Amino acid sequence: MNRQTVTQYSRKHRKAIVTAASGLLYGGGWSLGYFTSFDTASAVILVLATVVGGYDIAKTAYHEVTNWTLGIKTLVTLAAIGAIVIGEYWEAAAVVFLFSLGSYLEGRTMRKTRTALQELLEMTPDTATVRREADATDGSEASERAGGELQEIPAREVEEGEVVVVKPGGKIPVDGTVVDGESAVNQAPVTGESAPVHKADGDEVYAGTVNQEGALEIRTTGAGSDTTLERIIRRVEEAQEAQSPTESLIDRFAKYYTPAVIVLAIGAYAVTQNAILSLTLLVIGCPGALVIGPPVSIVSAIGNAARSGVLMKGGEHLERAGKIDLIAFDKTGTLTKGETTVADVEGFGVADDEVLSLAATAEKKSEHHLADAIVDAARERPTAATDGGATVAKADDTHASLQSVPDPDDFDVVAGKGVVARYDDNEIVVGNRALLDDRGIDIPSQVAEYVREREERGETVVHVVRRAVGPTSGSETAERANGERGRPVSGGWDIIGAIAMRDELRESAPGVVAALQDAGIETVMLTGDNERTAAAVAEEVGIDEYRAELLPEDKQSVIEADQADGHVVAMVGDGINDAPSLATADVGIAMGAAGTDTAIETADMALMADDLERIPYAVTLSKATRWNVLENVGLAVLTVTVLLAGVLTSYVTLAAGMLVHEASVLAVIGNGMRLLRY
Ligand code: ADP
Ligand code: MG
Repeated sequence: MNRQTVTQYSRKHRKAIVTAASGLLYGGGWSLGYFTSFDTASAVILVLATVVGGYDIAKTAYHEVTNWTLGIKTLVTLAAIGAIVIGEYWEAAAVVFLFSLGSYLEGRTMRKTRTALQELLEMTPDTATVRREADATDGSEASERAGGELQEIPAREVEEGEVVVVKPGGKIPVDGTVVDGESAVNQAPVTGESAPVHKADGDEVYAGTVNQEGALEIRTTGAGSDTTLERIIRRVEEAQEAQSPTESLIDRFAKYYTPAVIVLAIGAYAVTQNAILSLTLLVIGCPGALVIGPPVSIVSAIGNAARSGVLMKGGEHLERAGKIDLIAFDKTGTLTKGETTVADVEGFGVADDEVLSLAATAEKKSEHHLADAIVDAARERPTAATDGGATVAKADDTHASLQSVPDPDDFDVVAGKGVVARYDDNEIVVGNRALLDDRGIDIPSQVAEYVREREERGETVVHVVRRAVGPTSGSETAERANGERGRPVSGGWDIIGAIAMRDELRESAPGVVAALQDAGIETVMLTGDNERTAAAVAEEVGIDEYRAELLPEDKQSVIEADQADGHVVAMVGDGINDAPSLATADVGIAMGAAGTDTAIETADMALMADDLERIPYAVTLSKATRWNVLENVGLAVLTVTVLLAGVLTSYVTLAAGMLVHEASVLAVIGNGMRLLRY
């Protein structure tokens, strides 16, 4: 070792070295005094032990005093100086040594707790194999597949858009989209899911996850510090820094508490003239366990959650989550898979296919999941007759070329109700009963009957309505419509059909709802869907209560009403459509947040995976954390009380007081760290 490394080493391990040195001196000085009669030598060594161990403490104490933020170190320094002044060298050295040993152990464990997540980062590979072309500059997929040289470069230097090759068994070095290959990827480091996830063309993959089966080619969307894993870790670290209400309360309390202890010690001396007693008061009055307990609990819980794919945004949210007694779930995409598919198309006097195709045009520009389902269904129609509804599945052997869906000429969203579009001299309305009511469109019993029947199965039905506009006037349309048989007519509007859509329940949903109910938490489902569909789904999930036909802002008012009833409400949603209700709820929980930073942004708690089963875990962890914080505060207060009684009845000496005090600090740390393994 050269000089520089020695200096670096001693700087890094200063606390350990100082503690060890003061411990050795203390041991030597004490033995000398105990076994021999070299009392002066013993005293000198003990003072030296105090100075070595106490120098750093006194320096901080000096800062505390000059900034009027009296803290633990001020108390310890005063006690040590006082003990030397009255000739209690052994006590002085013991107090200082025990305190530095305690704070060394404390620092070590806290660091371990905080950096638990850094292990995840170490999982991301340092290098990446990229496909770099010697000549081709067009970057087309064809040229990439055809060749390009494989180069191994540092993972941080991979640029956006570059293609990275990952062998089976290899770790994925960047965030990106699969462009070639197929595999199962273990995403546990990012999402906490234990089961590998199937990945193929177009799927997103995350840096730090493990490619288990086949070779994958990945087009990079983020590398280096710009990956999901790094973002998560940064957020977790921020969250761990943020103070919880209990922590800030204790900090405020400590500000007055420490000076009060000093005043008490001076008062005790004035009354009893017993210097040891008042110095002991200083030592046992240290609020160490009180100050250190809650942060350890919270940091441990946040770290544990992160490793299970649950991002807690900070101690404040965690403490609040510990009080949740009602959880509201959004239906679509939360309790259900959010993969809506068209279950049935029914034309009323119009071919089913025409209904679907008109509806698809009207919905083409909408981003609603119902719209996507309709457009997809229209695209995937077999390339058969569009005339009679008797569609022949000739697509089977011709490897289905997709049907095109024309753009609407004009298009408007009616939030929570549907869409209104214009296409080819027609005005087309696709939406629910409320939307038709708004427009004064009557629903014939034949249509209502169909809708009711589908809704009772838990399906969502939209009406497809048309009226001619533009060149042809409204009355003409009505006349023309009246002329045709069997077609329901209403104020120029024809209800030409209805489309029934189904969104399967997540398999885990009933179990999760039951687990929450077992934990004494009420559940409610919120949906914009109609009453009958909602009832059918609620029954299937086994949820306590449901509210249907809610507009987005209604969901918010439902939550506010529950809060007014005294509930602490959590709302579970996808974090994008449900942002307002997530924000209103006491705790907003966003699902499937790994890919979307906005979801992480709006939520108080984000589930990285699309995995409902994390919710009971997150809630019970929060409750356990709340208890843990209370236990730690209780233990700290109890220790000080018992010690105080001990001092006043002169059972507790200066060194013993410090020993018990440090033991209580380590006890609360140990208790808090249990949450790491919750
Ligand atoms: P949720 O997310 O609970 O399904 P929304 O507010 O998104 O609630 O939708 C509520 C209802 O509004 C839907 O069930 C549907 O009847 C109607 N609706 C919303 N958007 C559309 C759309 N693009 N096309 C047809 N109907 C729609
Ligand atoms: Mg929704």
